[in-house]
Amino acid sequence: MNFNTGLLHANVDDYDSGATLVPIYQSSAFEQDSAERLEKIFHNQAPGFSYTRIGNPTVAAFEKRMTWLEGGRASVATASGMAAIFNAVAGMLTAGDEIIASSGIYGGSIDLFQDLESFGIRTSYIEEINEESLKKTVTPGTRLVFAETIGNPRLDVLDIKKAAELVHGYGLPLLVDNTAATAYLVRPIELGADIVINSTSKYINGSSNSISGVITDSGNYRFDPEKYPALKPYLKMGPFAYTARLRETLFRNTGACLAPMNAYLNLLGFETLGIRMERICQTAQTLAEWFEKQPEVLAVNYPGLPQSPWHNIAEKEFSHGYGGILTIRSGTKKRAYEVVDRLKYAKTLSNIGDTKTLIIHPASTIFCHNSKEEQEAAGVYEDLLRISIGLEDAEDLIKDFAQAFGQE
Ligand SMILES: *Cc1c(COP(=O)(O)O)cnc(C)c1O
Repeated sequence: MNFNTGLLHANVDDYDSGATLVPIYQSSAFEQDSAERLEKIFHNQAPGFSYTRIGNPTVAAFEKRMTWLEGGRASVATASGMAAIFNAVAGMLTAGDEIIASSGIYGGSIDLFQDLESFGIRTSYIEEINEESLKKTVTPGTRLVFAETIGNPRLDVLDIKKAAELVHGYGLPLLVDNTAATAYLVRPIELGADIVINSTSKYINGSSNSISGVITDSGNYRFDPEKYPALKPYLKMGPFAYTARLRETLFRNTGACLAPMNAYLNLLGFETLGIRMERICQTAQTLAEWFEKQPEVLAVNYPGLPQSPWHNIAEKEFSHGYGGILTIRSGTKKRAYEVVDRLKYAKTLSNIGDTKTLIIHPASTIFCHNSKEEQEAAGVYEDLLRISIGLEDAEDLIKDFAQAFGQE
């Protein structure tokens, strides 16, 4: 099955009454016909549902589709992308363990890793995953390496294959946040990533109507019981050990479950991911090339432009385009604000992956708690604007930016 056909037909069950969409099981608990049957479900000896915090049929349908999308073994859907990252990371760690993360990752993830310090889990940051940086940073306490396919707003592209080989060389698992790229551009598991995380609030949902996240396990990483004692009781489950550990402990006990209604809304967005991404990537490329020619724009950053330092990796790694996010520099903060305020279509807010084009001044908003050095390490400057391309016609977006630059 090709990508768009798979989005509609892969891992889809038949539903009662011939429904063509997954029914919304808006029920907190599920009755069983005998006490014995309920006992079996509680002991994972029979399939079935008992309580929506632990599992729900609508959510399970979404998880199955996400497993297909990312080419993994099993998925766990969560209430948000952040809940997914917390569970994915904490699910394998013990106090005293260390994380290595790429410095360009989502601000919320950096904040979360800071929160983990009070539980005895430390994080070291490296600008790029390479031989040298790992050699300097890996310690006997390192337990995982965390990176994003496309960093945001630096728009650096991870060489997943190379990173996976290096990280595996140290016997560690590679966790990849694939939110900004999505499986439309690349399936990190096919290139060696062990666990993939998506904030499905963004491109998967597609129209910004619900917050959600998903952890997808490849089942390929073999956890050493000495180094990962939390996994020890689950190793008998083979490739499902990590998912079982999540489901039986942290995921259920932190109450990180996704609401059935939100799983349904994500399933609607899921079906059109391919055509939306195709359109978004085309428009982003058109706009990036147009921005390049405008005297008002001092710099454009987009992995689809040959001058991007990450263009070669992106070209090798991505199948159908270069994503929907680009940044421009306008010279001064004042100019940047003028452009934002004059735009008719682009909405000023902190989000990505909507049907509508979105724009934000990162330095004064999502990076306002970071120092100037931290901002610049993340590719954030006083005059930088981040644009998340939507489904509008490219000509209309170009006209709008032209008037916002004062060209008419
Ligand atoms: C938005 C985002 C998150 C957090 O997801 P939420 O659904 O908002 O909790 C994590 N990683 C990336 C790359 C994101 O863009």
